[in-house]
Amino acid sequence: MTDFKAEIGIIGAMQMEVDRLKEDISDKKEYKISGIPFVCGEMFGKKVVMAVSGVGKVFAAVCTEAMILNFSPEVIINTGVAGGLLKDFKIGNAAIAESLVQHDMDTSALGDPLGLISGLDIVNIPCDKEVFEGLKESAHKMGVTYKTGVIASGDQFVSDKNHKEEIIKAFNAIACEMEGAAIAQVCHINGVRCGVLRSISDGADDSADFDFQKFAKEAAVNSSEIIKGYIKKH
Ligand code: SAH
Repeated sequence: MTDFKAEIGIIGAMQMEVDRLKEDISDKKEYKISGIPFVCGEMFGKKVVMAVSGVGKVFAAVCTEAMILNFSPEVIINTGVAGGLLKDFKIGNAAIAESLVQHDMDTSALGDPLGLISGLDIVNIPCDKEVFEGLKESAHKMGVTYKTGVIASGDQFVSDKNHKEEIIKAFNAIACEMEGAAIAQVCHINGVRCGVLRSISDGADDSADFDFQKFAKEAAVNSSEIIKGYIKKH
């Protein structure tokens, strides 16, 4: 436990996903917990803590738990980039999660539905309604085209047409990435309000690796700007 109590926590998997936000934090104080860097300070009059979790669900879960235990944020927002699963998504558009699933959680051989989180007995982990609405409102204000729905997380970079189709079919998902569901699950079990907002960096298909390398950095700017709008208002 630190002596810093945050109103809003922000988590990005990669440094480039939070760089634009870090610029606006004043009175910065930095901590390293379990190897993860946390930056605390003030942003547009709010007390915020921001972390770069690392890629994948394990790092994301460790980061979220450490953030909750050490900084007690009321709300945690996951920002970053994702593969788009909708035909009309363009690079830089936003995906805002109503709920999240772990597309690689599979105990279906035992008769469970695909994606079931045993113990919680749910497939879809819901986001906080007000945070969801706030992110939508901010995207709208910033003029960023966005879609809402299910975001699917798994420990795989999706870059194969068949794999993409499987995820769409199983979960009716609009975007895929590698951390959101872990962050939402840790928030859910701790009673912390959660939101997930991603900008599309690629189409999760055969050119996804090329597109990710080329567009991730600029796509990440859009989600950062939407987060800034959200923090100013909430
Ligand atoms: N070694 C690379 C790994 C990046 S993985 C690095 O450290 O830069 C891709 C990241 O972007 C993940 O954090 C994931 O959440 C997101 N992402 C973007 N497009 C994705 C896709 N098509 N499939 C899965 N994750 C994707």
